[in-house]
Amino acid sequence: MSQTQPAPPLEIARTTELGLQRHFIDGTFRESVAGGTFESLDPATNAVLVQAADGQAADVDLAVAAARRAFDEGPWPHMKADERAAVLRRIANGIRDRAAEFIEREVRDIGMPVKQMKGLAARAAKNFDYYADVFPELTGKSFQVGDEFVNYTIRKPVGVAGMIMPWNAPLMLSTWRIAPALAAGNTIVLKPAEWSPLTATLLAEVLHDAGVPEGVFNVVHGYGETAGAPLSKHPGVNLICFTGETTTGSTIIAAGAPTLKRSSVELGGKSPVVVFADADPEQAVDAALAQIFTLNGQRCTAGSRLLVQRPIYEQIVTAIAERAKNIRVGDPFDEATELGPLIRPEHHGRVLEYIQSARDEGARVLAGGEVPEGMDEGNWLQATVIADVTERSKVFQEEIFGPVLVAMPFDDEDEAVHLANATEYGLAAYVWTNDIQRAHRVAHRIDTGMCWINSQNVRDLRTPFGGVKASGIGREGGDYAFDFYCETEIVHVALGSHHIPKLGLGDQD
Ligand code: NAD
Repeated sequence: MSQTQPAPPLEIARTTELGLQRHFIDGTFRESVAGGTFESLDPATNAVLVQAADGQAADVDLAVAAARRAFDEGPWPHMKADERAAVLRRIANGIRDRAAEFIEREVRDIGMPVKQMKGLAARAAKNFDYYADVFPELTGKSFQVGDEFVNYTIRKPVGVAGMIMPWNAPLMLSTWRIAPALAAGNTIVLKPAEWSPLTATLLAEVLHDAGVPEGVFNVVHGYGETAGAPLSKHPGVNLICFTGETTTGSTIIAAGAPTLKRSSVELGGKSPVVVFADADPEQAVDAALAQIFTLNGQRCTAGSRLLVQRPIYEQIVTAIAERAKNIRVGDPFDEATELGPLIRPEHHGRVLEYIQSARDEGARVLAGGEVPEGMDEGNWLQATVIADVTERSKVFQEEIFGPVLVAMPFDDEDEAVHLANATEYGLAAYVWTNDIQRAHRVAHRIDTGMCWINSQNVRDLRTPFGGVKASGIGREGGDYAFDFYCETEIVHVALGSHHIPKLGLGDQD
């Protein structure tokens, strides 16, 4: 009997020479009009990793003009859905074929542990496969009005999408938007975060090789204020897709308001993990650890606030702290590494200040809280667990965006819900209990876009993704993405004669 051999493990190492990361506009790689560049750092050493073209308004103008032309005059919006789907499938295959390059670049760029990056790269490819499958299945609705009318809806692409992306998981987060936007027939100008330029340039190459026509996908590198801002207010852009901090999101929505841009914004989070006394403690502990310490703690849906019912509070926080002390901090290229470096020295400094503020307020640092010994070069931090914070403390209220879990006890269901809802954010929530009615009740009472019951953050691509309150506006994922990336037009058709008011007949009326 023949057996399929499992694929050999993908070996990833720092090998590629990284040249200047150029913009990709109208099918070609280009330097900035003004010729400027900026440096991006290696988070493991803070040495300069790469230079990127420093995009300005003039580069954004060129990219938007190319995207506009491709939308208004090019074939992409008018292709049959399954023809576009075939291109999306080639993109997915292109990402898989070049997975080692994508993984190497992103591990170097943002310090993501290589083992986790392999999963994220696979997911990036899946984003294209998924939307290649679902878009051709998208149907409109029809409304029969007796024998007089039939009305039906059609979906049309909206136009040029400006995508402004963060640095914490650039490949996965950008492909998650690019795939449905392209499937629906839009054209794109992507501005990656200035701290993570590497995978966007490679993605441009893969999309081009997969047959995406010139001008349909463009990349402009650069800073938020000088490249992101001109994109967010550009009159040639119809849609703004933004993932990043809440304050930036509101600036970007305001910038798009004069030209009435439709926007979908995925913002910050401070998601609660609520553990009731009847929960399975082992699963709750495993999930709480994974939920805060994967992706270097720089994760929008991180379960960063642990709320535990008082009878098991000490047991749970101690178990989590003991495991956190064993989390392997180190070279992100090492398969055994669980926690890589934080993105930049200034971000690292901010996270350390948060830990100090908790100490100053008398909270107990049960694990971590320090730069690991001998790791002063680069932005390293131990996995940190802080118990006995208060509802008012900064570390309870504000998004730290690092490997820092804060914990406090609660007495009953009402208090658990109150504490879960006691921040400005509402992205994700995690509820642990074996009381089925309470599980659903609490899930419904928490102000959140997404809630997991007795589960870590496992996503199905068909489900909606997004937050409430300061965590965002809009839902993407599954068919929900098409409510954003498509216009819905209603066509009203009279099937015969029907009453039409007769105006202007004067006395003949
Ligand atoms: P950020 O807001 O600092 O930057 C995001 C992007 O916006 C970057 O490309 C940046 O250059 C650009 N930008 C900055 N100022 C701008 C301006 N004035 N005009 C236009 N563009 C501008 O966010 P970040 O630090 O890169 O990312 C971390 C944040 O992202 C965290 O708050 C995290 O929770 C959030 N995030 C949310 C989700 C989600 O799905 N809800 C996912 C990932 C990250």
